[in-house]
Amino acid sequence: MGPSVPQMLFDREGAGCDFEEIHILQDRTSGLKAILAIHSTRIGPAFGGIRRFRYDTEEEALDDVLRLACWMSRKCSLADLPAGGAKMVILDHPGLDRNEAYRAIGRHLERMAGRYVCGPDVGTDEDDLDRVREETRAVNPKGNDAGRSTAHGVLAGLRGVLRSLDGDPGFDGRSFLVQGLGAVGRHVATGLMDEGATVLAADIDEELHQAGKEAGLVTVPPEAALTVSCDVLVPCAMGGILTPQVAGDMQVKAICGSANNQLASEEAGDVLHGRGILYAPDIVVNSGAVIEGFYTVREGATDAVRRRAYDHIDEIEGTVHRILERSREEDIPPARLAAQMADERLAAAIEKTTDARP
Ligand code: NAD
Repeated sequence: MGPSVPQMLFDREGAGCDFEEIHILQDRTSGLKAILAIHSTRIGPAFGGIRRFRYDTEEEALDDVLRLACWMSRKCSLADLPAGGAKMVILDHPGLDRNEAYRAIGRHLERMAGRYVCGPDVGTDEDDLDRVREETRAVNPKGNDAGRSTAHGVLAGLRGVLRSLDGDPGFDGRSFLVQGLGAVGRHVATGLMDEGATVLAADIDEELHQAGKEAGLVTVPPEAALTVSCDVLVPCAMGGILTPQVAGDMQVKAICGSANNQLASEEAGDVLHGRGILYAPDIVVNSGAVIEGFYTVREGATDAVRRRAYDHIDEIEGTVHRILERSREEDIPPARLAAQMADERLAAAIEKTTDARP
């Protein structure tokens, strides 16, 4: 027999063990089945994308949404935003009326009066968000470019990494391998090239691979991406790529990219740390889009507001540098340290808001 619902929800440990609310959305007209997990709204509205995915079981969807909501809180905390974390997952199935499903979600968000603000994630594109926008304003505004703002944050993170490597944040004369030339990776590759770096790149999509070559990137076969020798690996494709074995064989000085959950396990992070390979935690490096989302939802989607958001994204450089320095001083792998720091900051911020109450 599988676990009972209370066990699944109330006896959890680790990421996703603590949460404020879980909403179950079911709309028979559109076929929508979705779970919304609100991890925290104690210091501000909860931000998090909508993932649409064919889960094998409802338990798998619940696990995913709780874990991701908790990581969103940590991401906002490390980005120094007065916001919390949430996530919604849609349990995709052949009978789903996609347009109506996203409208139904928009109506639900409108009833929540801004406590949850949604954005894109795997399976949710701009058209889907347009359907949500028909019903509510609690959604990333049109015109935000998540790929570009995330890439801006990756470039800032890379400067922080290089400062920790040898004190010089410049890209000039260094070599980087960008894995994945999609919405984020292509901007990162261009940004690095513009500042004089040697950029190697790999994408499993033949067209993007070819386009990269024509743009002046040194393309390598995708299967060789993790074993190539260069200064920094920049993962901008899939998560889970860094297993303990891969971490033990890599020929790089540092890793810093946008892909979510790059470490297949905490042990992989320990192996990198033991080998002296700097790992910039993904939840810090890839927070550009949520920072842009936060500013533009709160203050309006104008050029001036976006400039302020990008200034805030630049601060990722200092955050990455501080985490890597503290990791070295305290001999704690950076990913473990980042999670610990995020939880401490969140607890302190909650205490402050609680103290401030009359
Ligand atoms: P994307 O789908 O636009 O691009 C990913 C690219 O990676 C695709 O071109 C794909 O062909 C390529 N790819 C997949 N597997 C590969 C492999 N094994 N080797 C080489 N290339 C491979 O996605 P994106 O929006 O650019 O996001 C990239 C990563 O960053 C994802 O992990 C995503 O979750 C994460 N991320 C993205 C954002 C955002 O705002 N777009 C924000 C935070 C995190």
